[in-house]
Amino acid sequence: MNKALRKPVIAGNWKMNLTPDETAALIEQMKPLVADAACDVVLCVPFVDIAAAQAAAAGSNIQIGAQNCHWANSGAFTGEISAPMLKAIGVGYVIVGHSERRTYFNDSSETVAARTRAALDAGLTVILCVGETRSEREQGITQEIVRTQTKIALQGVSAEELKRVIVAYEPVWAIGTGLTATAEQANEVNAWIRALLAELYSIDAANGVVIQYGGSMNAANAGELLAQPDIDGGLIGGASLKAQDFSAIIKATYFF
Ligand code: PEP
Repeated sequence: MNKALRKPVIAGNWKMNLTPDETAALIEQMKPLVADAACDVVLCVPFVDIAAAQAAAAGSNIQIGAQNCHWANSGAFTGEISAPMLKAIGVGYVIVGHSERRTYFNDSSETVAARTRAALDAGLTVILCVGETRSEREQGITQEIVRTQTKIALQGVSAEELKRVIVAYEPVWAIGTGLTATAEQANEVNAWIRALLAELYSIDAANGVVIQYGGSMNAANAGELLAQPDIDGGLIGGASLKAQDFSAIIKATYFF
């Protein structure tokens, strides 16, 4: 499948880190380092940092995203943020289904599907996270898990809407652990996801979808991972909080 059809996307997931002032300072540091990126650059920051991130990133090639959204547009959901609210403040991207949301906040395939629906309806681009746990990999059911998670999340998503979906394959055992899937393991799963998209939509539609890898990607391993034919970018946690490390990952996309 032709990798040249897709512009890579490197997205940072800052998780629950940094205040607005720290956000502005880190983005100021990153801006010159990523200015000539050959990929799209996105930073998914905590809700309270979005305004500071947008102000700091204004006029640069850094786009700002959020880390979650609710499935309803508004209502009695104390503490939640809706997709139309994110759209209204100029956010373009939202992560949905991150394994930390699935594990600690009971996000299920069904709620992930509902959040995906809401985000697409609001006009956002979704970074849809899927991935198996260590025990699921050991049981040999990785393909089944990833196919099922992807299929349920995309139920009712049209081929036109799929153009605003990025899939991030994130093996749960590799997130924040320092363990990385080998380039072959990661590419194998990304290729399964692309094959599923071809089944659900068409080969052309599947070839257009950016499928990232995420899980302890860093400056040292990014080159090998990003050179794989079905890995079109990365969702980066820890390394996205360090300007030099994040920019080194972005520079690894130059070699496509
Ligand atoms: C993530 O949070 O999506 C992630 C991949 O984290 P890390 O890079 O720290 O493993």
